[in-house]
Amino acid sequence: ATAPSALANVPTVLRKTLSSWVGFSNLPNQVHRRSVRRGFQFVAMVVGESGLGKSTLINTLFETKLYQPKVIPDPGADRGKTVQIESISAEIEENGVRLKLTVVDTPGFGDYVNNEECWKPIVDNIEARYDAYLEQENRVNRLKMTDNRVHACIYFIQPTGHALKPIDIEFLKRLHTKVNLIPVIAKADTLTEEEVELFKQRVLADIEYHGIRIFQPPSYEKDDEETAQENDEIISKIPFAVVGSDTVVQAPDGRMVRGRSYPWGVIEVDNEQHCDFVKLRQMLVRTHMEELREHTNDVLYENYRTDKLRAMGVAQDESVFKETNPAVKQAEERAMHEAKLAKMEAEMKMVFQQKVQEKEQKLKQSEEELYARHREMKEALEKQRLELEDKKRRIESGRPLTPEKGSKKRFGLGK
Ligand code: GDP
Repeated sequence: ATAPSALANVPTVLRKTLSSWVGFSNLPNQVHRRSVRRGFQFVAMVVGESGLGKSTLINTLFETKLYQPKVIPDPGADRGKTVQIESISAEIEENGVRLKLTVVDTPGFGDYVNNEECWKPIVDNIEARYDAYLEQENRVNRLKMTDNRVHACIYFIQPTGHALKPIDIEFLKRLHTKVNLIPVIAKADTLTEEEVELFKQRVLADIEYHGIRIFQPPSYEKDDEETAQENDEIISKIPFAVVGSDTVVQAPDGRMVRGRSYPWGVIEVDNEQHCDFVKLRQMLVRTHMEELREHTNDVLYENYRTDKLRAMGVAQDESVFKETNPAVKQAEERAMHEAKLAKMEAEMKMVFQQKVQEKEQKLKQSEEELYARHREMKEALEKQRLELEDKKRRIESGRPLTPEKGSKKRFGLGK
């Protein structure tokens, strides 16, 4: 028995049997032999509000019960209020051609009161898958590369019959440079034929108005007439009005068909008169699966990779340039030296100013002291002068300088 640790990293892949012909065995006609031997990897993402029939359509597309009937979530339960990313893989085989199919579901998209950034976890997931691929490309051994990039994103539009909702426009605008977008009108059986036609026109007008690029099967000049016509027919059905069903019902003429039964009749999934399921499957699985993979690799991934490497390279280049270029290094050193000098000069200026200020203060103080002394001396001299003048007056008037005893009476002076 294998040690449990050896199994730890092996992803669980479900093996499923198909109930009838799906069409990916046509892949060898789309790509060359080496890939045929190795098998194919295809990653499809489904996005849209819950209940729009995403799991049912995937089961219908690949004729396999990839998704089990969902447990209806308890409305009171907190589902985290964010978009979850869940992926499920199955290896399916048809006429000796192996396909490793991964479906990435995004439960929670558009289901909450605030759906403002619900596109973000999806963009993050797509970019993380690109990063993982880029990391493999940088490895020495590139033989066993797994391609988990999202090759197609089926976007489910609610069959309102009006126009695209703001959440649809926001999502498509955020994603159209990252992934092949395939918009579909969900549960088309809930609209009349005329309503579907009108709704399609409005959706296409919205897509054009907002400059959104959706996946279009390219037409090549070398294509034969039949292929060109096939392409045109597919293009004319975009956005595909789809109906999904896991169950077989009896048509009025007795045939057992995949479809949905109503009191007024049966909607057949595989009937091109009833819906565009057949055209969607043809494009996605039978004729353009390789085209979707190529466009993802050559255009969408390549753009992502270039942007990423450029962003990383700019930062790296700057440090390498400095280290290797002596002129740049010298200039940097000179600038540092000049800054140091300027700082020293500023400090010296400050000290000098302080000293001058102190001196000025001192001078002012001694000046004041001098003035005070001068005033004092002046006052003393004035006093002396007055005394001397008094003396002089007395001498001149012949009065004794110091009056004798009883003199007051004699001269009639005093009180
Ligand atoms: P999800 O939440 O988007 O994966 O939706 P489900 O595939 O679980 O489908 C939700 C419900 O819608 C189920 O009851 C399906 O039977 C039903 N349903 C799925 N596809 C269609 C469709 O094309 N038309 C109609 N009328 N009902 C559908």
